[in-house]
Formats: sequence, C-alpha cells, structure tokens
Amino acid sequence: MKFTQETTEKGLIIPTSALKISGVGAAGQAELHVLEDALVVLKGRMTALELLTAAYQLHQLATELCGHLAKACGFCTDCGDGCPLDTPESEPEGQGLRSVPPELLEMFRAGNLCLGALEERILIGGVVYGG
Ligand SMILES: [Zn+2]
Repeated sequence: MKFTQETTEKGLIIPTSALKISGVGAAGQAELHVLEDALVVLKGRMTALELLTAAYQLHQLATELCGHLAKACGFCTDCGDGCPLDTPESEPEGQGLRSVPPELLEMFRAGNLCLGALEERILIGGVVYGG
C-alpha cells in the first residue's frame, strides 16, 4: 500500500491510518532509516517473523522500483546487433552507467533491457517515477 504525502517546511506527516495498517504505530517505537532518495520507517522492535516480513516486503518494493525503471527504458530492440553500451567488461563504457551498481547493470543486461536508454535517462535526469 502506498500513501502520497506532501513534504512541507515542518516535515512529513505520516497518516495515523498508515501507522495502523503497517503495525508500526502499535509498536510504540519507530526507527527511521535515512537513505539517499528514500526514507524507511521500521518498528523499533521486531520479532524474527516481523523482521523477515519487513525485509521481504522491502525486497519486493526494490524489485517493483527496478521493474518500473526497466519498463521506462524498454527492451533493446532499436540498437541493431545489440546495445552499443552493452560491453562484456565489468566496467561500463557509458558515462552515466558508471554510477549504476554492478548488480543492477547485470540485471539490465540479463533482461535485454536497453542500456542506451538507461544512460540517456540518467544523463538527462528527467523524472521516471511519480509525478
Ligand atoms: Zn539498446
């Protein structure tokens, strides 16, 4: 489930319903993980099953986000005999692709997704998620 909230000068308000649905509100303590381009709120204390459930759902979210980007870039069909940026070396040739974690670059290669389109989106910096 996703809530869309506006950020303000006062910060970000997490709706009571979101706290209730997630179970974070009932935990009595929350842990805010500040990441680059993301925030993650976890229960301050979790059982093994709760921790596994949270980790699994975060993994699912990561998969969805990568899938969204893959869909935005598309398959490599217009690059002739293969994407010109798809090199067998571990070091990517494209300037924008150097900032992509190798595991994600490999996922793009394995899925025949267009690395040229990915690099173009990275270099242009336009919005590919949300409005
Ligand atoms: Zn391509």
